[in-house]
Amino acid sequence: MRIANLAGRLALLTADGAIDVATASGGRFAADPTALFEQWDELLDWSAGAAPAGARPYEESALLVPVPEPRQVFAVALNYRPHTAEAGYEEPAEPLVFTKFPSCLTGPSATIDLPPGHVDWELEMVAVIGREAYRVPEEKGWDPVLALTVGQDLSERITQLAGRPAQFSLGKSFPGFGPVGPALVSTDEVPDRDDLELSCELNGEVVQHDRTSNMIFPVPKLVAFLSAVCPLRPGDLIFTGTPAGVGNRRVPQRFLTSGDTLVSRIGGLGEMRHRFRRTG
Ligand code: ZN
Repeated sequence: MRIANLAGRLALLTADGAIDVATASGGRFAADPTALFEQWDELLDWSAGAAPAGARPYEESALLVPVPEPRQVFAVALNYRPHTAEAGYEEPAEPLVFTKFPSCLTGPSATIDLPPGHVDWELEMVAVIGREAYRVPEEKGWDPVLALTVGQDLSERITQLAGRPAQFSLGKSFPGFGPVGPALVSTDEVPDRDDLELSCELNGEVVQHDRTSNMIFPVPKLVAFLSAVCPLRPGDLIFTGTPAGVGNRRVPQRFLTSGDTLVSRIGGLGEMRHRFRRTG
């Protein structure tokens, strides 16, 4: 199941277009994207049954952030060895966690305003929590993750690295700095949830390319580590870390600028396309 937030209503994305869930189900399911996880299992059954009718073409610009109001957004630093090395750190012994405040979330095809400073890209797979989960053992770490999607952990490096010690969360939480989408892909539909290809392109040039199987701490470990402290709630997001190839570790450094197009793609999950403009 690929389920999206199309102009504020839940929609199944199919090869033929988008199907409005509330309309096609005759009102059995709510249209409200914030009600998604309460009806997840039944929706999964319904979508897997006789193909619901009513697929229509849609504008990608009408796709909004699929989880509009997560209560918690976790993010993980230094979760790929080549990125850890390019950032000049030693491999962490445990996951390094920060947050992206939820007001930074945006859809998969928005135009994003660049604040002053050095705005950088970080393509990441996002694990979407669909069930309450607390103190989950690692061997059951996939259980509360009902869907995966594509994310960008956009980062303004001056703000991010200004303090001593650095405080990551603010520099990664400007408006529009948390693009997510295009859809939530249920884990049963992903060919191999532990090994997906990530590819990030800036103006057509590949700047990041890796596979999620190269994470230092894979999804089950992250769920176990986070849920040992925080009860996880349906709709919570986990940005699972970025591969090598970010802009501030390049020589010379490279940052996003007005007119740039950033394409964020993960095999089996889809792609997001963002434009940037400088307003200040
Ligand atoms: Zn990141």
